[in-house]
Amino acid sequence: MSELVESIRARYLETLEGIASAAKRAGRDPASVKLVVVTKAQPLEVTRAAIEAGAKILGENYPEEGVMKIQALHEFSAVEWHMIGHVQSRKAQQVAFNFNFLHSLDGLKLAKRLDRFCGDARRILPVLLEFNLGGEQSKGGWPASDETRWQELLTEISEIIALPNLKVRGLMTMPPLGETPEFSRPFFQKLKRLQEYFSVQFPQVDFSELSMGTSFDYEAAVEEGATFVRVGTALVGSREYKTEVV
Ligand SMILES: *Cc1c(COP(=O)(O)O)cnc(C)c1O
Repeated sequence: MSELVESIRARYLETLEGIASAAKRAGRDPASVKLVVVTKAQPLEVTRAAIEAGAKILGENYPEEGVMKIQALHEFSAVEWHMIGHVQSRKAQQVAFNFNFLHSLDGLKLAKRLDRFCGDARRILPVLLEFNLGGEQSKGGWPASDETRWQELLTEISEIIALPNLKVRGLMTMPPLGETPEFSRPFFQKLKRLQEYFSVQFPQVDFSELSMGTSFDYEAAVEEGATFVRVGTALVGSREYKTEVV
């Protein structure tokens, strides 16, 4: 094993342990939490090393970069590729054709385009609906910071649920950046409440997946019910180029 693989492997195992302890503290089954290794803005060699170190799910933010890696690393056919960043409409086809899962569905127009391309490709894309719970202007996701206005989301969400080639599986959020993991916790709790709200409104849909928590706050996210955590820098080090977290 190369040094790079070994060092990622050590951090990967530590993170799995962190997830397991957080799950146990919350009385949850550790196996109900899946670790997404975020390799966005990491070179191909680091991405390959992450897979060799044990990563089962890779998270990418940019369609082109992701597709390049998916093609270059196709020998690892058991690995899943998840799109976790904002998808521009004109990138919908790349996402529909190449990715296994989309965490960051944030609009009806994008949903309709993805649905059409998935139809062409005869595949069903599992998706999570992304919500902006902090009320920041520049952030992706449906605005949902004001609980008294959740009802206003229902029409669009019901249209997305009705699309035949997308399968809604749950919710995702990226809280505003705080100083400590405790700052994120109320946002994780709010996503959980939103999940409960949608589950009552749309009992026919399975909203069971919650994608929340990054390097810095994934343990709090697991305590609050995350089923996917998205961890990058804590596993594979700092990124090659600066990226805006959307
Ligand atoms: C970059 C990114 C992550 C990972 O963040 P780290 O701080 O590197 O763990 C998780 N989720 C999203 C949406 C991201 O863009």
